[in-house]
Order: sequence, then structure tokens, then C-alpha cells
Amino acid sequence: MDTSAGSCNACGANGTALMKLSLGKDFFSRPYDRLSPSTDQSPKWYCEQCSMQKNLQRDFRDIRAEFDKLSAGNTSELSKSETFQRATIRLREIATIIESTAGPSPFLAAQDVRQLIERFQTTTMQA
Ligand SMILES: [Zn+2]
Repeated sequence: MDTSAGSCNACGANGTALMKLSLGKDFFSRPYDRLSPSTDQSPKWYCEQCSMQKNLQRDFRDIRAEFDKLSAGNTSELSKSETFQRATIRLREIATIIESTAGPSPFLAAQDVRQLIERFQTTTMQA
């Protein structure tokens, strides 16, 4: 946490504690590094509310990427029915949080989340 960075890169809030999302584990327990080219190009600073939203976006993107692989018949984290199940639950959680937040999320459209949930529902697991 650091307050010297100025304002939140998403909503512009200042005078509040800002945090930088950088390292950690992603939804599939893989090491997460914002600096790797496949994720975000530049580290940004977010206020608490935005960093929560950013986490939702991160999970959503990871899940969607794995789902795309699964749909294409490739190896995917979602090939495991247990993980698929967990991802389904997480997507519903994300949708619920976004829809209960006042105003549109700076990162995620509720519609995109709903669409992915629908795609999940029409997928039959072979596992
Ligand atoms: Zn913010």
C-alpha cells in the first residue's frame, strides 16, 4: 500500500489509500504477474473499491481464456470438472457483485459476465 502514487488509475479518486496489484496467484493458482506481456502492460494503482473490481476482472479474464481453450478442444484448466464447477460458482459471484454495485464497473460489463455464464451452462462436461 502506498499513498504517494496520487490518484486511482480507474476512478481518479485521490486522498485515499491506493494499492498496486502486482504479484500473487491467479484463479487457477498459477503465479500471477502483471508485468508479463500476457496480462497487463503497466502496473497501475487502484483505490480499494477499484482494486476489488480489478480482481473480479482478472478472474473473469482468466476463466474466459480457459473456457475459450476448452471450447476449441484444447487442454484447459477447465477440463477438470472440479475446476469447471469452481469457475461456474466464481462467475456467478462476479455477476452478483457487479450487479449490486452502484454504477457500471470500470473494468467489467455485467453483460459479458452473463454471456459467459450462459456459455458455461450450454457446455456439457465429458469428465
Ligand atoms: Zn478507484
